[in-house]
Amino acid sequence: MIEAVDLMKRYGDYEAVKGVSFTVGTGRIVGLLGPNGAGKTTVMRILTGYHWPSAGSATLDGFDIVENPFEVKRRVGYLPENAPLYPDLTVSEFLSFAASSRGLEGASGKEAVGKSVEACGLATVFHVPIEKLSKGFRQRVGLAQAILHDPDILILDEPTSGLDPNQILEIRALIRALGEKKTVILCTHILQEAEALCADVLIMNEGRIVAAGATGTIGDALKGEERFELTLKADAGRVRSAFSSLRAVRPTGDIENAGPGAVRIRLAAPLSLAAKDGYQGGPAEDVFDWAVSGGFKILEMRRECLSLEEIFVKLTTEEKQP
Ligand code: ATP
Repeated sequence: MIEAVDLMKRYGDYEAVKGVSFTVGTGRIVGLLGPNGAGKTTVMRILTGYHWPSAGSATLDGFDIVENPFEVKRRVGYLPENAPLYPDLTVSEFLSFAASSRGLEGASGKEAVGKSVEACGLATVFHVPIEKLSKGFRQRVGLAQAILHDPDILILDEPTSGLDPNQILEIRALIRALGEKKTVILCTHILQEAEALCADVLIMNEGRIVAAGATGTIGDALKGEERFELTLKADAGRVRSAFSSLRAVRPTGDIENAGPGAVRIRLAAPLSLAAKDGYQGGPAEDVFDWAVSGGFKILEMRRECLSLEEIFVKLTTEEKQP
């Protein structure tokens, strides 16, 4: 569990993080998104104890990052962007060194290295010097280093950057598996990656969180309305004249031809509708009832969602902070 309250960070006169608050529940993978310079790395560095906040506070599994930094470091694994590794060491030497610097010596060090090698699929390259590894394998070594001490919380900065599509799939599968037991903050510029891996997303822009919520529904509040695309087996003229009997839903755009005897229409309803007096059911039911009463056969009905990319662009370009 991670709780951040009003975190701020100043570099000299420059405020890189301007009061960021969020909570990440145990066993969730949360995407931290934002354009370059939004303050993501700064937030991750604060949470992992690399930077003190200028103001505000954060706790990881109940331990305060300023008051209990060692307890925090014991519970967190951090994979910085372009994982810093020692290229002339073998995987075995590097992980043994990383284990001993975490206080895992002797049998416990061996066990920790063995477990993270297994989790990250590194057995075949265990005695290979890191400089001879592909970028995908180096990233795995970075992940193995981050999970050596079996932390409850993982903070990963761009873990798939620079990898080829096969390596990306492998690292994502690894993160997904790790996320089943651990709380993961995943910083990424790849929005499809956030969609594929993250239950929730936090979007930062200019030092602030501009949106937070479940990956699938975060766009609803922005959109302000629920939208449907409907394909009907019906005559366009009859559909047009039946529009007047729609209750709270309204058509948007023209009626389109969707093949022989079929038309496509788009309808929208305000999100606040369900809360309004006298409105029973929901817009989807309304649309269905309307089609049935008009005698139109529904060939397809799709609820339109804003993609994470559309949301990101809207929040990080159109709504600039003052
Ligand atoms: P990116 O996606 O490019 O990594 P980011 O969202 O991680 O960006 P940060 O690296 O946190 O952003 O940087 C936020 C702002 O703080 C940027 O304007 C950056 O130039 C500035 N900044 C970061 N680190 C320092 C530092 N050590 N000293 C001064 N300014 C810094």
